[in-house]
Amino acid sequence: MNELQKELTTNLAKFCKDSIEPHMEHDDEAGKFRLDIFQGLGAYGVTGITLPTEYGGAGLSYSDYVYALEEIAKTSVPYAVTVSVSSMVQTIINEYGNDAQKKKYLPALTSGQEIGAFALSESHAGSDAAGLKTTAKKVAGGYQINGTKMWITSGGIAKTYIVMARTGGEGPKGVSAFIVRDGDKGFSFGKAEKKMGWKTSPTRELVFENCFVPDENLLLGEGKGFNVAMGGLDRGRVAIAAIGVGCSQRCLDESVRYALERQQFNQPIFDFQGLQFMLSDMATEVESSRLLVHAAAQSIDAGTPNAKLCSMAKLKSTDGAMRVTTDAVQVLGGVGYTSEFPVERFMRDAKVLQIVEGTNQIQRVVIARHLKKEYGHA
Ligand SMILES: Cc1cc2nc3c(=O)[nH]c(=O)nc-3n(C[C@H](O)[C@H](O)[C@H](O)COP(=O)(O)OP(=O)(O)OC[C@H]3O[C@@H](n4cnc5c(N)ncnc54)[C@H](O)[C@@H]3O)c2cc1C
Repeated sequence: MNELQKELTTNLAKFCKDSIEPHMEHDDEAGKFRLDIFQGLGAYGVTGITLPTEYGGAGLSYSDYVYALEEIAKTSVPYAVTVSVSSMVQTIINEYGNDAQKKKYLPALTSGQEIGAFALSESHAGSDAAGLKTTAKKVAGGYQINGTKMWITSGGIAKTYIVMARTGGEGPKGVSAFIVRDGDKGFSFGKAEKKMGWKTSPTRELVFENCFVPDENLLLGEGKGFNVAMGGLDRGRVAIAAIGVGCSQRCLDESVRYALERQQFNQPIFDFQGLQFMLSDMATEVESSRLLVHAAAQSIDAGTPNAKLCSMAKLKSTDGAMRVTTDAVQVLGGVGYTSEFPVERFMRDAKVLQIVEGTNQIQRVVIARHLKKEYGHA
């Protein structure tokens, strides 16, 4: 970690401890999202870390960004996720948008005054996202969108949505990406999902009924929407992986501290070799995941995002987070299963990290595709 990263994470750790941690248990139970917390993160510059300063971003690297996400996730996986999805939307607009789109939408997002959301999935098109059915029909001056998007993170609290809809024939080449704003006529919110975890991150259905979006809201061009979505997801996967590391690190910290204090059979439970092996495996999982996350982040910083590494980081870190959080509950025994300690919340929050931004089966599909190419069987 360099000096800047140390300063960034130290400041963030203090903000998380003072402003997020005291609310987490209550808000997890109440399913409450606080915009002031998100905007507080914005004041630290972390809601637009990698975006250029000319659009209000912090102009930092992806390696800096993954440290920041890890730090937030140590206190709250859902707030880290809100930052990461909003950042993915910004990256997409910055990468694929034109000057007018960047000037219009980025400053409110980078500052954290507004939140961005990414709408690809539909009820029949999850892993097979290219099968999406939402349509965008060309009309005078723009497009008319019809359809329903499912499980959209920050649905209802976000102002700017990147929506993938079909302008052409079947398959990925028929998909286009649009910028849609909360309040646009014909755009409304459906049911809010009741979830196992990520309780403070709203997940909502988006409903489009003859929703008109002007031509100027098309990103990149007709038929380019799947490329836009996949470009965003490569980076998004590394962000989710960084969140997995934060989630695991917190549970490791809780477990070691508890094991050193808790006495059974007249000795700290840490001194039982059975638990030492478990804690050592947990620590190794955290470190190896972090190394992969940084290798993937460095490939992005070098301008050559390595899709195989991005998928490996997501797979390793989030499968690891599930293992480490589950083991943390075990190390803490009975209290681990109660809300007296946060490890049960982290265990619930870890599960969906294995599902979003491409399930971990899909990450394996991506890795295998690269292996086939590397071994000359493209
Ligand atoms: C809390 C939450 C937040 C989300 N946020 C967003 C969001 O912001 N934006 C968005 O667009 N989507 C979002 N999603 C949707 C998420 O991306 C999808 O749930 C995910 O892509 C999986 O799709 P699915 O649920 O339809 O599962 P399916 O695709 O039906 O998969 C079911 C099972 O089959 C497996 N499977 C499918 N295909 C293959 C294959 N080829 N090989 C091996 N196994 C396979 C899967 O791995 C999985 O285990 C969110 C979901 C949740 C739960």
